[in-house]
Order: sequence, then structure tokens, then C-alpha cells
Amino acid sequence: MSVGLIILITIASAIGALILFMIIRTVLTKPVKVEKRSFEPVPVDKDRVAQKLSDAVRIPTLTVLDDTMSYDEFPKYHAFLEKAFPLLHKAAEKTLINNYSLVYKIEGSDASLLPGCFLAHQDVVPAPAEGWEVPPFSGEIKDGYVYGRGSQDMKGQMIALLEGIEILLEQGFKPARTIYCCFGHDEEFTGKEGAKNIAKYLQENNIRFEYVIDEGGTVLDGSIIGVDGMLALIGTCEKGYLDIELKAKKNGGHSSSPYKRNAVDLMAEAVYYVAMTPMKSSWSLPVKQMFKAIAPNMKPLMKFIFVNRDILSPLLKFVLAIANPITNSLIRTTFAATQAKGAGAPNVLPPKASATINCRINVNENSDMVIKHVKEVVGKNIEVNVLPGMAEPTPVSDITSAAYSVLTTTINEVFENFLPAPYPFIAATDAKYYYGVCNNVYRFTPFLVSEDDRTRIHAINERTDIDGLVKATQFFARFIENSCK
Ligand SMILES: [Zn+2]
Repeated sequence: MSVGLIILITIASAIGALILFMIIRTVLTKPVKVEKRSFEPVPVDKDRVAQKLSDAVRIPTLTVLDDTMSYDEFPKYHAFLEKAFPLLHKAAEKTLINNYSLVYKIEGSDASLLPGCFLAHQDVVPAPAEGWEVPPFSGEIKDGYVYGRGSQDMKGQMIALLEGIEILLEQGFKPARTIYCCFGHDEEFTGKEGAKNIAKYLQENNIRFEYVIDEGGTVLDGSIIGVDGMLALIGTCEKGYLDIELKAKKNGGHSSSPYKRNAVDLMAEAVYYVAMTPMKSSWSLPVKQMFKAIAPNMKPLMKFIFVNRDILSPLLKFVLAIANPITNSLIRTTFAATQAKGAGAPNVLPPKASATINCRINVNENSDMVIKHVKEVVGKNIEVNVLPGMAEPTPVSDITSAAYSVLTTTINEVFENFLPAPYPFIAATDAKYYYGVCNNVYRFTPFLVSEDDRTRIHAINERTDIDGLVKATQFFARFIENSCK
């Protein structure tokens, strides 16, 4: 036998052994069996909860973005809450933070338990009436939906939470664990006035939480990744947020006698280089945890690939990067060019041109790494400035905590055929401010939202399905029963 043949046989045997190992590993990974516990969901009056959401939507608590806007609607919203949830207001101690943010505290009977905390934001993004089927702040109820700005993001979740508590109180429920509800008033504009000050108040008063639950996460059809049923994704962390300004400077002049590579050309080149030079993809802890939770329930081929993610890593990263923008955003820092500015008139060569790149920082990276990368890519002729509002990625919350386990148990109780899994939340929300008062910060929105309805968030014809609102109310009531009794 020639040496070449021996080498060939050895390589073929090694590959064969590796494939056999991967097959055995796949077969030995058994699907997660959901233990279905029966429970009696709280009775929810569908019309009552729909009407409360409708009334909430009718008060346009817009995020105050500049001096032309006011906070006038927020006191009206507080008065509405007081009327809509009388028992909660009787049972809870209410504290106003920075005039418009709300903290409710319902004292539990067992002081040895750390309190549980639920977050929501009162503010909503603006909604110009153009294109809406109904006026955006009408709260109109039609075809089984409550329509209007904020019906999904996130007055729906806030009303479901408060209605869940109100129903429990109507039933005479007395929590052992103290319950906090913290509602900021500027989440859609960084949360620095609302949630940030609430967290500061909590820290100053030495209040720590067993868990914090905020909006975020998502319920997705599992078929996109080869899983029967729905994926209930629980955000255990948030990617970081960074706006970078790229600025090019050159001599100005008249556009009738242009020279090559003026400031706009240079700025456009820089934007193009950033777009074409992504940062390296990587497996952050929450992404590894997500695939570990989901892989056992995947269909055979997908299961084979994801169970052997460590061996097939380069191939898998490539597939996730090109599969769709969401899977790509899970494995890397992303760059999006969002604003550009040149001359003030069309016939002027500007002395400077600038563009904003919105960066979402992967959980295992930080702003310094991103700034260094951008500087290297655009070269030294382009000024790189960090704009205000930067937030580093948050820590990753523990998925072996008792609170996480209660969360997944409750999801399995209330919803049929849901597979809970942790994941990195790719957007930003108020929860990021609460790591100073809690280690177990989770983001979960207990609504099964259709693809059509999902695209309506921050857009026209936002609406919430009333059956889903009822389910979410039962979810919060059950979670509180499970975690606060
Ligand atoms: Zn929101």
C-alpha cells in the first residue's frame, strides 16, 4: 500500500468517525418534554380589559422629544390608572419619580423574600394620522382588536399586568412577596428621565429585587428554525447602543466647478466602507444558551447542525449571517447608516459633510472595540465622534435562577406548545437600568403577535388582539401567583 493511500484512508476514517460522533450526539439529544401542569386561569372580563386598553390609548402620552412637546398628558394618564384599577391603588403605595414616572409597591407578608418587579413604559412614539384606518388615538375597538398608538408598545402589556393584579386583588389575593410596578415615562427616548431615575431612587433606598420583568423578547413561529410550535424568547440581556458621527472636511466651493472627492464624496465612501466591513461574528453566551435550549426540539437536519454547532461553527455563522437580518444581528455588532448631512443648498460644495452610524454592540464586545474598528475602517481623514446616548451591552442574567424557572413554568402553563428559550434582546428598553438592583432581569412580552401585527409597532394601524390581551392578563396573574405566593 502506498503512503498516499494510507494517508487517504486515515483522513477518510477520521472524517467518518467525526460524522458518526456527530450523529450519535444528535440522536442522544432528546427533545425537551414540556410538563403540562393544569391550573385554573383567572377569569378575565374580555370587554372590561379591552375597554381599559382603549381608554389608555386615548390618552396620547407621547415621548417628549423636544421643547415643543409637553408632559401634560401624563397626569391625565395617572388619573385614568387610578380610576381603572381601584383595588390596586388601594393596596399599593404610589410614588412619583421625576414628576411623571410611577412606582407602585404592594407590600408582601414575608419580609424575608426579595420583592418582584414589573416594568412598563407609559410613553408612546408619535403617530401622524396619515395612513391610519382609524384615528391613532381613538382606541377604537373593531374586529376583535384594540387599535391605536401604544396598543402594542406597550400599553397592552401594562394593562394586562395591572388587570392581572386587579383580578387577583378582587379574589382576595395577598402576596407573600412584595410586588413593585415601575412605569417610566420616556423609554422611547432613552429612558434617562424615567427608568434611570426610578433605578436611582431604588438604589438610594437599598431596594433590591428577586427578579425584574420588562417588555421584550418575542414569541416566534418555531418553523423558521425547524421547531414545531412557538418559540417564547426571553431576553436575558440587551445589546449595547452607540451612535457614531462620521465627519469629512474639505474646502467648500461652487458646485459648477467641482473637484474630485469633496466632503460628501469622502463621507459617502466612509459610510460605504463601514457597511462593507462588518465586525467579526461570534457566539455570545446568550446565543449559545438559546441554541442549547432550542436545538433538541429541531427537525433532524437542523438538529444535527445545531447540536454540533461547535464543530460546524464557521458554516453555521455564515448561514446565520445571510439567512436574515435578525439572525445576523444575533451574532455580531451591527452598523446602520441612518442620517447624512451635506451642504445647505443643492449648488454648494460643503466644507463638511457628516453621517450617523447607529451601532448595536454585541453582548461580548464593548464601545471601545466598536469605535476602534470604525476608525480603522474609515481611515484618518474622517473624524469619528461618539454622539450622546451610548449604552454598553448589559450583563447577561442567570438562566439557572428560581425566577427564570418560574417564568418558563408559567409560560408553559398559560400557553399551548411554547418552547421557552433565552436570547439576547437586540433592541433597547428600560430594563437595562435595573442591573444595579437585580441580577435576574428578564424581558418577555406574553403576546402571540402575527407577522402582520408585528410590523405595525411604531408604524401605522398598530393594534392588539383582544384574545391575546386576555391571555397576557392570565399570564401575569399566574406568574404573580407562582412567584409571590
Ligand atoms: Zn416599548
